[in-house]
Amino acid sequence: MQRKIVVLGTGGTIAGRSDVAGANVGYTAGQIGVEQLLAAIPGLQRAAGGSLVAEQIAQIDSKDMDFDVWARLAQRCAAHLADPLVAGIVITHGTDTLEETAWLLANVLDAAKPVVLTCAMRPATALVPDGPQNLLDAVALAAEPTARGVLMVAAGVVHGAREVAKVHPLRLDAFDSGDTGPLGWVEAGQVRWAHGRAPQAAQPRHAGLLPVLGRGPWPRVEIVLSHAGSDGLLVDWLVQGGVGGIVVAATGNGTLHQALEAALARAVAAGVAVRVASRCPQGRMLDLHAAAWQDADGLSPVKARVSLMLELLSVGR
Ligand code: ASP
Repeated sequence: MQRKIVVLGTGGTIAGRSDVAGANVGYTAGQIGVEQLLAAIPGLQRAAGGSLVAEQIAQIDSKDMDFDVWARLAQRCAAHLADPLVAGIVITHGTDTLEETAWLLANVLDAAKPVVLTCAMRPATALVPDGPQNLLDAVALAAEPTARGVLMVAAGVVHGAREVAKVHPLRLDAFDSGDTGPLGWVEAGQVRWAHGRAPQAAQPRHAGLLPVLGRGPWPRVEIVLSHAGSDGLLVDWLVQGGVGGIVVAATGNGTLHQALEAALARAVAAGVAVRVASRCPQGRMLDLHAAAWQDADGLSPVKARVSLMLELLSVGR
């Protein structure tokens, strides 16, 4: 039997269309079906080294990503990963929340095969769209026998789910892995791993949650930023509103405005889970501050929020 690469479409700029011929901005994301995207790329079947199967999971701008789409996507990934004929999965996604989806999937999928997210910064109708090459690279990566775990590829660069972040609103190479650097590259259809070998996939922390995702409401977890003039009022309002968790994007090495810190102490006393991430886009906090708050384990605030939601979900809060 022929092995398969499954391509799951969720929308994004890669499936975007503009009424203005050739425009790079001012388009509508999530317009073109995943089958149509695949059909427009010569050589895709060859890159897959087998057959390609397309499935439309959603058709949205990823700025509007929601829990239902996440649940459906994670569960369809798991179903395809369990098929022995599936060699790997590609997910077409918008760039805006790609890193959040990647981190969610890395936490719930036991991905002994590659799950590769890809995207585009220009719509499919642009004069020179970047989506087709990214999709071709993603299929090559999903078909690569040494690849495993949740990865993403854009502009020829391979990133891991934990580190990747969108760092630029317009550039074609809009993603970065900070201090750790990329995991590899896709060059003329070949995967070249940084450090000469494929990274191992980490064990998912919350694989047990997979069947229950989408069955009930997700815990409410909000992100609050520590900044000059913070007064903590937002935190008090969130607590009054019944928030389950707060991720605070702290200054530098986890420092907090004193008024915000006082409000967070009130939140903890009220039973709210608080995690501290750094608002610095690079590096990792050293655990220098007194352990009044649990730190976010080096995750960015948006990924710390995903982790905290999963944690609260697993304890039934
Ligand atoms: N707003 C778009 C999205 O995230 C941006 C993109 O895909 O580049 O779906």
